[in-house]
Amino acid sequence: MSGPLNAAVLGAAAVEFLHLAPAAVRLPPLRRTLARRTAGHGADPRHVALTFDDGPDPVSTPYVLDALDELGARATFFLLGAMLERAPDLGRELVLRGHEVAVHGWHHRQQWYPAPARDARELRRATEAVTDLCGVRPLWYRPPYGVLTAGPALAARRLGLRTVLWTAWGRDWTAEATGESVYATARPGLTGGATLLLHDSDCTSAPGSWRATLAALPALAAHCRTQGLVLGPLRDHAVPSTRD
Ligand SMILES: [Zn+2]
Repeated sequence: MSGPLNAAVLGAAAVEFLHLAPAAVRLPPLRRTLARRTAGHGADPRHVALTFDDGPDPVSTPYVLDALDELGARATFFLLGAMLERAPDLGRELVLRGHEVAVHGWHHRQQWYPAPARDARELRRATEAVTDLCGVRPLWYRPPYGVLTAGPALAARRLGLRTVLWTAWGRDWTAEATGESVYATARPGLTGGATLLLHDSDCTSAPGSWRATLAALPALAAHCRTQGLVLGPLRDHAVPSTRD
């Protein structure tokens, strides 16, 4: 798929950020099938991928882990290298408690004005940090804000990472978010093959917003259960390959 990767790529799920990104408006759209795959549509009609971005955060991630244990759910955590470096034990704990770790970048950078060499260097550094500190080689990359530009796209591919955005979110990063609002926002998108974006840290969100995420988890899990859907990590999500 040299075309989309050589061009700057914008995930369909990032449309809501266009107003922040005049440069991104000029990017060519993804092919529909590629957009679906990059967005994280899994092939298993009974599976919903549960994903958390921006951690690990000692303030909030332990609460999320305890809640997931109570619900019997496992998830994929897209880690920031800068956060992991400050909380390496928590990175290892994610793996020990059965979750999948993935790469969100070193810093939570906007990529409206890409610096390919720097972006590639930081993505490699973050990938190595996840591998070394968590003890598992990551498989997935999700760019901050869901905007994937050419430099990180190529760098991720060279590192053996597959890019996955999301198909549903709970808008859990806002100051107004509550458990009810996160659940109500996410619920319509919780269909088979969906990938749900949540955050286990407020390091790039409204202070304390992770509490809304935490409060929404039981209702989200109950909804999936009643729909016959299993919440789980991306490794169980049967995301089709983008290399065709
Ligand atoms: Zn993020």
